[in-house]
Amino acid sequence: MNNDTAMVNKIVSRRQLLKQAGTGMAATVLSTAVGKVLAQGTPSISGKTPISLIIDDGAPVDPLFYELPGYETPLLVPREFTQRVVETFDRFDLRGKFTVIPMPSCLGRIDQSLKRVPAEHLADWLKLVREGIAPRFDITPEFLTHMQAYNLKTGGFQHLYEDFWISGAPIKEIVEYFVLAFQILKNVGLPATGITSPWVSGIDVEKKYAQALADAQWQVFERKLTWYFLHATSWDAPRQCSIEYEDKTRGQVVVSVPANTPDIFWSMDFPTHDERQTFIKKGIDRLVSADGRTGRIPQLLDSGHPVVLVTHWQSLYTQGTGLGLEGLGALAERIQKVFGNSLQWMSCSELARQYVDTIKPKTL
Ligand SMILES: [Zn+2]
Repeated sequence: MNNDTAMVNKIVSRRQLLKQAGTGMAATVLSTAVGKVLAQGTPSISGKTPISLIIDDGAPVDPLFYELPGYETPLLVPREFTQRVVETFDRFDLRGKFTVIPMPSCLGRIDQSLKRVPAEHLADWLKLVREGIAPRFDITPEFLTHMQAYNLKTGGFQHLYEDFWISGAPIKEIVEYFVLAFQILKNVGLPATGITSPWVSGIDVEKKYAQALADAQWQVFERKLTWYFLHATSWDAPRQCSIEYEDKTRGQVVVSVPANTPDIFWSMDFPTHDERQTFIKKGIDRLVSADGRTGRIPQLLDSGHPVVLVTHWQSLYTQGTGLGLEGLGALAERIQKVFGNSLQWMSCSELARQYVDTIKPKTL
């Protein structure tokens, strides 16, 4: 069976499934979109279309504190907040990817100790991530610090940020850097399935980046399928998943998983609570209207692009107010109401797996 035939078969079976199962609003919304959704091969075996949530910059501290001076925010993210995040994930069965920064804000290693962070706070946070988040979300590092590049030889931090560092670094050094990131997460019981770019690190050297990821994943976990998050399209033309590197000897592939929305919860640039709330409300409407007929998500379904949403740990925390997290709850509720069981929350590695299975059946 060639790839085209495989796709056609999937399209047909998905159409049949929807015909049988689709009712109400979800069916109305999806019926126009179905054929195209399938063209990229993401529907799951259950016949539901996947949806994923990417959460960047996760840490026991608010990375905003050091990363963007000028925003007032508590350094430590309290346990109660992380607990509320876990509860929101549970309530809606959200799935996707959650970053755990191995050396957040250059304060130290999370498998050892962090300056200005009590050991108990760090241990508690990691426990919540292991028990409450990791069962539903892929965990990835976001390089090592999401700030200055770590010096692998001296143990200090370099006078350049990680996005500049990766552009000029030899591949051997990048592999070593990623291996350390994976090792630190492994040491705290959080095996990573892939990696996330801080900012758009690696965008100018993407092939080198993808190959380094393949080698590092192979060294630490021997994974045949790994993936990374680098591209975010905001409201612009959406992207598909893509295979960016293959090692045929190992039978290994590296998939790029894009986010196809902006972070509608990044409201910190608005000065007042009301303005922030309005911004978030408008963002939810722009993702999917209350009647489900318009918005970015229906458009992505219609054009057959992966429905991958993105937000940040800082946005959910919103300088200690939790406004973004409330917004996420409201968005998840709307998605549930509008799409019902037609969409299925899925982790990013599952999404990458489905993509590869569809375009390269039987090879992996
Ligand atoms: Zn980030």
